[in-house]
Amino acid sequence: MELRPEKFKLIAGDLSLDLVNTASQWQRTDKAYAPAGESIGDIADLISWALKANAIDEKAARVLAAKTANGGTQSLRRARKLRAAIYGLAVAVIDGKHPAADDLRYLDKERLRALERQAFAFAGGKFELKRRPGAEPLDAIIDTIALAAVELLTSDRSKRIRRCGGESCGWLFVDDSRGRNRHWCDMRDCGNLAKVRRFRKKAAKVAS
Ligand SMILES: [Zn+2]
Repeated sequence: MELRPEKFKLIAGDLSLDLVNTASQWQRTDKAYAPAGESIGDIADLISWALKANAIDEKAARVLAAKTANGGTQSLRRARKLRAAIYGLAVAVIDGKHPAADDLRYLDKERLRALERQAFAFAGGKFELKRRPGAEPLDAIIDTIALAAVELLTSDRSKRIRRCGGESCGWLFVDDSRGRNRHWCDMRDCGNLAKVRRFRKKAAKVAS
């Protein structure tokens, strides 16, 4: 399994929203949001993204890659489902709407599963939270994302979740800018495109 962490871009300022940004062009189907653009095509992508996002370290990534060489489809499906739920909840916050009950329920379910897999222990002279043995190794990634999403959505930072203003972008981020005026996922991409478009419009006006 070849890991390609360099293909992912982290711009959200939050782990769970960075996962959301592995998909794009979200559309609402009758029950849930589904993306048309997908950059987590297989389990190698999920592990690569988790490595890039520091959800796991390099050693853990290598172990996971070796252990899940022929599997992980279940975890991939769960990661995508969790991603869609987080997207639904985050855009509800942005749009000032009541989030869908299914999205709330799904994140809560994953949150509880994550907590169940944690064990409070005392080792090496200190208290710690460890993972219970026997859990599917890929669950570590999903657990970390679920807990990060709950932490973000229940915090004050949730009020600063924004959607990139770029046409057909739709990436989400937390606006931690000093003036609270961040509009773009990345100034060099969507921000730059918008600048070029504004410039062209102006030039067209001057020419006419
Ligand atoms: Zn953008």
